[in-house]
Amino acid sequence: QSVVNRIAAGEVIQRPVSAVKELVENSLDASATSISVVVKDGGLKFIQVSDDGHGIRYEDLPILCERHTTSKLSAFEDLETIKSMGFRGEALASMTYVGHVTVTTITEGQLHGYRVSYRDGAMENEPKACAAVKGTQIMIENLFFNMSARRKTLQNSADDYSKIVDLISRFAIHHINVGFSCRKHGAARPDVHTVATSSRIDAIRSVYGVVVARDLLSITAAENDPSRPVFEMNGFISNSNYSAKKITMVLFINDRLVECTSLKRAIEVVYTATLPKASKPFIYMSIVLPPEHVDVNIHPTKKEVSLLYQESIIENIQAAVELKLRNSDT
Ligand code: ADP
Ligand code: MG
Repeated sequence: QSVVNRIAAGEVIQRPVSAVKELVENSLDASATSISVVVKDGGLKFIQVSDDGHGIRYEDLPILCERHTTSKLSAFEDLETIKSMGFRGEALASMTYVGHVTVTTITEGQLHGYRVSYRDGAMENEPKACAAVKGTQIMIENLFFNMSARRKTLQNSADDYSKIVDLISRFAIHHINVGFSCRKHGAARPDVHTVATSSRIDAIRSVYGVVVARDLLSITAAENDPSRPVFEMNGFISNSNYSAKKITMVLFINDRLVECTSLKRAIEVVYTATLPKASKPFIYMSIVLPPEHVDVNIHPTKKEVSLLYQESIIENIQAAVELKLRNSDT
């Protein structure tokens, strides 16, 4: 049984960055306004995500890391319309099968918090009262300690750490009302540091730097005709002054960080066709559409999405981007 659980958990949590993504999404679901991530040894030794969200109630602690425990799904129909990002109650449980999980949390109005550790889907001990500030701190130690083959494939801690920095950077420019930080354990300076802001450009500047933020063009597209697939897109794209060898596409669909290869390619194509002398673009894009038009990624590690009416939406976005690039290139 425990081997089966471990293998299943290893599918959900494929690399340290997958654990960080799940933890940060939980913090966002808990209405955090500040989220900080600390990583040691690329995440294999230690990952800690702290938030100032609503916390976890004492009575929920015993079952917190049981599989399929979620506070976010009340009825099966919710699957279609669910807004919060987590909906499977699988992530925390999985982490306890492939690492050592310690939760410290306090809810509103309590005088002290609780700390408890989990292994293999269950509490290791009774929750202990402890001092705590607002919110929840989740620590994962010795990730994949019981999966030696996985550990061997993850020997490059710099690579894993840069994936985590990239992930937090993406979250930080979308959830601009939340302050993010990400640093290596023991490092004096964080590698990502943002404060809550109402300006997306400010957030992009503080994460990706002045050079990226300087020449961004704002892009929008929408289809409001109810007889056609309705959607709304807002974002930014670099102009021809920007120089990079690789395309960066930060894509959120209905507030979920996803990838959509055909959309990315389509934009790259108009970009190169319209600005032939330009390098690869930086793109931030947020698309909102009816949830039932997104192919819900049932498997938690699947970032790639497909959309209903995808071609029509992509064409519409392509046209809007092309028009903007043409008008700016004079
Ligand atoms: P899911 O997010 O799909 O519900 P998880 O395994 O990621 O499943 O988390 C299980 C539950 O633990 C969540 O539904 C939530 O109630 C609680 N939880 C996890 N992380 C936090 C957090 N940072 N703040 C508040 N509650 C949390
Ligand atoms: Mg979750």
